[in-house]
Amino acid sequence: MTDADAQNFYVASTPPPPPHAPLRGETRADVCIVGGGISGLSAALHLIERGFTVALLEAKHLGFGGSGRSGGQCIFGYASGQEKLEKLVGAADARSMWDIALEGMKLQRELIARHSIGCDYVAGHMHVGVKARHDTELRAEVESLHESYGYRSVRLVGREELRTIVPSERYTSGIYDSNSGHLQPCKYTLGRAAAATRAGVKIFENSRVTKLDMATHANADSLAHTESGTVRARHLLIAGNALLGRLVPELARKLMAVGTYIAATEVLGPERASALITNNAAVADINWVLDYFRRSADHRLLFGGRVSYSGVDPFDSARVLSARIRRVFPQLHDTRIEYAWGGYVDITPNRAPHFGRLAPNAYFLQGFSGHGMVLAGIAGKLTAEAIAGSAERFDVFAKIPHGDFPGGTYFRRPALVLAMLWFRLKDLL
Ligand SMILES: Cc1cc2nc3c(=O)[nH]c(=O)nc-3n(C[C@H](O)[C@H](O)[C@H](O)COP(=O)(O)OP(=O)(O)OC[C@H]3O[C@@H](n4cnc5c(N)ncnc54)[C@H](O)[C@@H]3O)c2cc1C
Repeated sequence: MTDADAQNFYVASTPPPPPHAPLRGETRADVCIVGGGISGLSAALHLIERGFTVALLEAKHLGFGGSGRSGGQCIFGYASGQEKLEKLVGAADARSMWDIALEGMKLQRELIARHSIGCDYVAGHMHVGVKARHDTELRAEVESLHESYGYRSVRLVGREELRTIVPSERYTSGIYDSNSGHLQPCKYTLGRAAAATRAGVKIFENSRVTKLDMATHANADSLAHTESGTVRARHLLIAGNALLGRLVPELARKLMAVGTYIAATEVLGPERASALITNNAAVADINWVLDYFRRSADHRLLFGGRVSYSGVDPFDSARVLSARIRRVFPQLHDTRIEYAWGGYVDITPNRAPHFGRLAPNAYFLQGFSGHGMVLAGIAGKLTAEAIAGSAERFDVFAKIPHGDFPGGTYFRRPALVLAMLWFRLKDLL
């Protein structure tokens, strides 16, 4: 556990897993994975099930990234939306991506059941509007999902019905999806890690990769170096995502690591908590700088929102989130915040996921843009398929065009702040 974990409600409510020793000396494996979040752990399990040997290097501890601190909302589709994907890759590939995202949701539930992962999974998700113009957008989205994609688990929820589910004056209408849901992300990630460990994946914690020597030929090995050791492997998967930093500059250029924060209230008790979201769905509003919230299994409200690039201490975010909670639920004016934590969400400028190769055998996964709880799992499976020789599905994603985020090395942070101000302004219009 690190200082950053002390205020994370998920860490506090998850039994500590057995630690994995850091890498020392040289180790060989068929595949070396950088990053112990859902992407890396999913790829590891799928690879070992296909007969590969796998070594996974994690800079801190498993689940330290978004995977162990997220809102836990497991949402259908892509943050970019299908229309944007159709423009980026054409209708046929956009359709394949849609099918893969749905497969990801099914896979998530199957894995939870197969490996008996106790992660408090609950079905149901609501995407809610906060302005009259959002009603039209949400209605159009439901129609398009029904007609173009045959996705029938979504339905429009009008203002009156919505008030009976989420008793807040703030929301105008919403989409309810019975196929999406929510879970406790730290338990989910560590459950996946336990399954990978049992299957034989060699995991090393406190083992930050500081240098990569990527083979330029398919028949040569790559090397991943940490301070105290090296992994030699034929294949490499870089799954460090928003926490990868500058290890691979060409990946950093394509990603915005956007700070977002979550607060957990004190325990409200079953009656008070269930009155806030009567169907126990996860809720997210439609804004770019969105509020997202859900009930926890122990009857708290978990409320996320607000973004930052400068890093804000957890106590300040508790104060800010408390104000946002009261804006949605004035009835919680006397409620205490018990935990507040944050993390970096992996967002691409076009909000489509960013997968690809840096060398013939060096793969990467990043940029799930707020949909990683589902997509990171299926992304790991697609990478395992590609390494095993069937790259068709991985390559549908690798074809998505991604621009560099503007700003270059020196102006990147100010450019991010300006971009964020622009998106906040759009939300207000
Ligand atoms: C506060 C917050 C709320 C979110 N809410 C939601 C949500 O409700 N729904 C949703 O779908 N998504 C949400 N997300 C996004 C989601 O958590 C991520 O998309 C997802 O977890 C990405 O998984 P990953 O395995 O790719 O990356 P991560 O979980 O970030 O894992 C990457 C790992 O790589 C390690 N690493 C980095 N560099 C190195 C290195 N050099 N060497 C070794 N290891 C390294 C890191 O320590 C980290 O553990 C949220 C994210 C945050 C931060």
